[in-house]
Formats: sequence, structure tokens, C-alpha cells
Amino acid sequence: MADRDGRTKFVLDEDRIPRAWYNICADLPVPPAPVLHPGTGQPIGPADLAPLFPMALIGQEVSTEREIEIPGPVRDAYRLYRPSPLHRARRLEQALDTPAHIYYKYEGVSPAGSHKPNTAIAQAFYNREEGVTRLATETGAGQWGSALSFAGALFGLEVKVYMVRASYDQKPYRRFLMETYGAQVVASPSPTTEYGRRVLAESPDSPGSLGIAISEAVEDAATREDTKYALGSVLNHVLLHQTVIGLEALEQMAMAGEEPDVIIACAGGGSNFAGLSFPFLGRNFRHGTNYRVIAVEPEAAPSMTRGVYAYDFGDTARLTPLVKMHTLGHDFIPEPIHAGGLRYHGMAPLVSLLKEHGYIEARSVHQRASFAAGVQFARAEGILPAPESTHAIRAAMDEALAAREAGTPKVILFNLSGHGHFDLASYDRYLSGALEDYEYPAEKVREALAALPRV
Ligand SMILES: *Cc1c(COP(=O)(O)O)cnc(C)c1O
Repeated sequence: MADRDGRTKFVLDEDRIPRAWYNICADLPVPPAPVLHPGTGQPIGPADLAPLFPMALIGQEVSTEREIEIPGPVRDAYRLYRPSPLHRARRLEQALDTPAHIYYKYEGVSPAGSHKPNTAIAQAFYNREEGVTRLATETGAGQWGSALSFAGALFGLEVKVYMVRASYDQKPYRRFLMETYGAQVVASPSPTTEYGRRVLAESPDSPGSLGIAISEAVEDAATREDTKYALGSVLNHVLLHQTVIGLEALEQMAMAGEEPDVIIACAGGGSNFAGLSFPFLGRNFRHGTNYRVIAVEPEAAPSMTRGVYAYDFGDTARLTPLVKMHTLGHDFIPEPIHAGGLRYHGMAPLVSLLKEHGYIEARSVHQRASFAAGVQFARAEGILPAPESTHAIRAAMDEALAAREAGTPKVILFNLSGHGHFDLASYDRYLSGALEDYEYPAEKVREALAALPRV
């Protein structure tokens, strides 16, 4: 189809995969805040990031070019599962008796079962191009770890995964998948890093957290010549890679002959949300369209709806640069909700900026209400959603029900970021009534926010 932006690279290739990623930094109405050095408090330069990331990714991190071409080998790997399907949820519409049309983009068709390979493949490729032989990373519930392990297998890289202790013990199946792809997985906090040993000395039974695991992986990469670090969300280059979701959806919605009124995705660090919504937001900024965009987060880790917009660290050990984002404080450890991918204290700086200036909306939902939506979705559409994705489904269903109340049609598009085949124990807890809601932990957040760095 002809590209409606009048540009060439966004046109999908012969396999209907985008030829370029979309960089929203070219179209932002307000400039992003600079990233600061944790020691000096001054803006960082490429050299500060070089121990952790290959130069190509550092370049993408600070790029303001609208289109960044997707390298051939990355598109070849995307071809294993892209384009991902866009479905209309007709049976869910019927079950809700709504005049709304509900569409969802399904990222669970990737080999690792979520949207995360979209960036894992790109990151593994650029690292290998620059001679890196080993990647270190963290994983919460194991989605990112499995995506990077898969990508490492494709490009011949060793992968070391620091897996949050609680999931390591409770969710062994993702670990088996990572090991099958050839990765080495340790429980975090681990005795293999300086920081891990420090945490273990203080609390030998620590269940770990994403913030702690990031600290360990960053230390691993910073102290080894052959190793770089890979992050599965939050950073600009990660959000960039995920825009294949929204670029495909733009064309697929056009094929369906509809325009979405509202676009919805769950948000942990913000990458699948950005992936679906940024190409649409780009149209709002460039062409004055009026897509409404909603990010949905868990009530137990509500960085955008209850956090502050301030400079903070991305990890617990305070090793990462300072970024301006919605945060609950780098010391904040969210309750063990089942949507492990949404248990993070911060939010991507680009998503935070858009929220702060009113270009997107945010709402939070409890996990029982999310699981209820996930179960209803599975019974209508057949796909078992990841617990993270059920947050988006909850909001999409609420929008559809509001359309029924108002008696007005509405076109809803949401991202189904992954399947829940490794999360059946969580569904079992929900179905047996054992799943609990966690109230917003106001006191813990107040304490964590008191420890924000002063810049
Ligand atoms: C990791 C994950 C998320 C949350 O991460 P984002 O960066 O916010 O997208 C959401 N859904 C699934 C299935 C995930 O694996």
C-alpha cells in the first residue's frame, strides 16, 4: 500500500514487515530531559555508555532521525514470526454486547511468546556486529531472559541471565526455556557479583527484585571485556525497536478499513506500549490526528498514576545513569503480583514525558480485575493472555462497556503483548480464589521517594 506519510521507508517490504523503525524523538513537541551521570550530575555522552552498549545502540539512544533502517539480518529474523496478526475480537464484542469494535495486535506469536524478541534480536545483532561475544542481562518473570536467550542463539552469542530469585524458585519453566536456548541462568541476588554478595550478606533470604538484578547484570558487563549489557525495556532504543508493532498495525487497521479511536497497552517499563502507540502518536504530532492513547499499569506498581516525575536511578545499586521519569523510587520493591513484567519502580523516560505533558493517559488496575478480564477474553477468543497483557484487556473491555452505556460506536485497538502459557499457576490461583489484590503501598512509596537523588 502507499504510505500515507508520503515517505518511503515506512512502507512494508514484500513480506509486509517494516523497512525502518519509527523514532518518535523526531516529532516530540517538547524536548526530552538529558540523561545525567550518576557521579557528576552532568549530562552524559556516548563514551559514558560505551562499556555497557555497542556504539550502534548508543547512536539510536540519542538519535533524532525519524526513520532508522532495520538491517537485513534483523528483518530476516523478524520473518520467523512477523508480521504479527491483527485480530478483531468479534466474540468478545458479542459477549460484552457492545457497539464498539475491538481489535488486538497479537505479539504472543513470537518464539519466546511476547513482544520482547523485537528488540532482543536487534540488540543481539548490533552487539555481534561490534565483536561482542557475551551478553549479561536481568529477568523478572523470565520473558525478557527467554527473548534474549533466543536472540543469542540466533546470532551465536553467550547469554548470562540474572533471574529474580522469587521467580527462579517459583517459575522454573521459563528458566528451562532459557537454558534450552543455551543461556546460563543464576538466581539474583547471586554470589557471582560484588553487589549480589553484598545483598546476600545483609539478607541471605532476599527474594530479589528487578532493580537488584539490573545492578548485577550491569556490574557483570562493566567488569568484563567480552561482555555488554542488554535491557529489555525503558531505554529509547528498546522503544524504537518495538515500533514494528505499531507500524504494522497502521497498515493492518487500514486493511480493515477502520481508524482506532482509542489505543491501549499495558506498561511495565513502557516498551510494548510505546511499540504500538508511538507510530499513531507520530501522526497526532505531524498530521493533527486525534488518537486517544492509554497506558495501563498495575495498582501495586503505579509509577505513572501515583509516582513523581523526577530524576532517578534505574537500579537499586545506583549504578545506572540518572533519567527523568515517573518513578516510585529506586528502592521500591513492588508486591509479588503475578504480572512480573509490570513490577518495576520506573517508567520509560519517553513515555513519562508524554504522560507529563498530557499527550497520553494512564490508569491503574488491580490484578484480580485484570485476571477476570483475561479469563473472559480466553473464553471468547481462545487465546490465553499473559498476566501483563490482561491489564490492557481490562482497560479495552472497560472502554467497550462505556461505549455500550453511551450507546455510541467506538473503535478500540489494544496490544496483546504475550501469551500466558508459562503463567498457568497464576491462572490456577485466580480460578481457585487464592489470588489477592494489593492495596497501593503508600507508606513504602513515601519512604522510597525520600531516597530520590537530588539533582
Ligand atoms: C515484559 C512484558 C511486559 C511489560 O514490559 P513493557 O516494557 O512495559 O512492555 C508486558 N507484557 C509482556 C507479555 C511482557 O513480557
